[in-house]
Amino acid sequence: MSTNEPSTLIPAAENPFDSMISRFDEAARILNLSDGLYNVLKSPAKQVIVSLPVSMDDGSIQVFEGYRVVHNINLGPAKGGIRYSMDVHLDEVKALAAWMTWKCAVSNIPFGGGKGGIKCDPRSMSAGELERLTRAYTRAMIDVFGPEKDIPAPDMGTGPREMAWIMDQYSKLVGYSSPAVVTGKPLVMGGSKGRVEATGRGVMVACRSAMLKMGLNPYKSTCAVQGFGNVGSISAKLIEQQGLKILAISDVTGGYYNPNGINIQEAIAYSQSHGDQLLGFTGADPISNNELLELDVDVLVPAAMEDQITGHNAPRIRAKLIVEGANGPVAASADEILNQNGVMVVPDILANAGGVTVSYFEWVQNRLGYFWTEERVNRRADRNMKEAFEHVYQASMQHNCSLRIAAYIVAIDKVAQVTQLRGGI
Ligand code: NAD
Repeated sequence: MSTNEPSTLIPAAENPFDSMISRFDEAARILNLSDGLYNVLKSPAKQVIVSLPVSMDDGSIQVFEGYRVVHNINLGPAKGGIRYSMDVHLDEVKALAAWMTWKCAVSNIPFGGGKGGIKCDPRSMSAGELERLTRAYTRAMIDVFGPEKDIPAPDMGTGPREMAWIMDQYSKLVGYSSPAVVTGKPLVMGGSKGRVEATGRGVMVACRSAMLKMGLNPYKSTCAVQGFGNVGSISAKLIEQQGLKILAISDVTGGYYNPNGINIQEAIAYSQSHGDQLLGFTGADPISNNELLELDVDVLVPAAMEDQITGHNAPRIRAKLIVEGANGPVAASADEILNQNGVMVVPDILANAGGVTVSYFEWVQNRLGYFWTEERVNRRADRNMKEAFEHVYQASMQHNCSLRIAAYIVAIDKVAQVTQLRGGI
């Protein structure tokens, strides 16, 4: 019996591919991209859908649907995570794959964009079932994956454990150990130092770079962070270390507000000892996630999930600066309102690129067979992030547009130039 219903259609307004395309369109118009190049860059290069039969612990066989989309490989092998969730559908995977193309291009990483997913509920499956599913997916993708072709990584519902299974299965099939086929591996089997903190660290660097441009003094500034997982908690910790006062944090259990500032180390320790949740945290008063977004703070870091700031609540946002830790937390419908209100938004494809940057470093180290110190990883990642921010900032000045559209302009221009130089169309 299959657990997988056919992908349901989602309304156009919430369709992530449409949201990405609307920003892509604006940047393409400013760049005066030809119709031909527009169509090439908009279309995913490859879309693979596979059926994955898996023996379940109760003796039954279930067939899961798996996807891998390679959006563009003109800058290098495809790079992008694998998501395990019942909400996975092809449109989402296509949007996320394109996002990866632009994210790598804007961060000057020699990778293209890819993304994968399996429609499944990982929380209801045993470790054995998940291992058999992951190995079946890797076998099905043997012609797609490869250190020179397409390099997966963790995403929602997957982590170092799944990456270890992919690395092992791929290595068994090709007949030699191939750590560079996947990133986000456990440290002991070729993961990179600094990877766990990389995305939050990049958010902090992007935040500091933007504050410098805006003339905001970190020691006189306040911040709210939505989401307290990998990205949110580490962003909050490192931003606090820059001198900002973190007035509010939140997770799926709600928001926590303290006008005198929250001690982030204490909050992290609390969350770690309470099943990765802040529920019951006493260093602050409870508020809702929506209230957190609308607080009177200088900096807002949405680091939980997509579509948190929309046309509906954008007029009430009081932060001067939004740094997108999550992917897609500001919906396209909010862009214009925030622009008009003078809110600077450091877009996801730039702000959270620290993760893919250190994934790239992991791939480099695997191919070198030589591992860097954490200090070297952080130094190079920080430099990369600062340069990417400056490049996007200059493009926004040149084209008199938001940082988001500037980031798309930088990315699309680069991929378009390389596409033309490579030719062969
Ligand atoms: P995570 O699972 O570690 O943390 C997610 C956090 O969001 C948790 O604290 C959870 O409680 C909270 N949350 C869930 N639903 C919520 C809701 N409705 N309201 C408020 N909070 C809610 O995930 P993560 O790795 O930190 O990723 C967060 C976002 O950042 C995602 O959009 C992800 O795609 C993006 N991202 C992550 C990385 C990375 O390296 N981890 C890199 C780039 C982008």
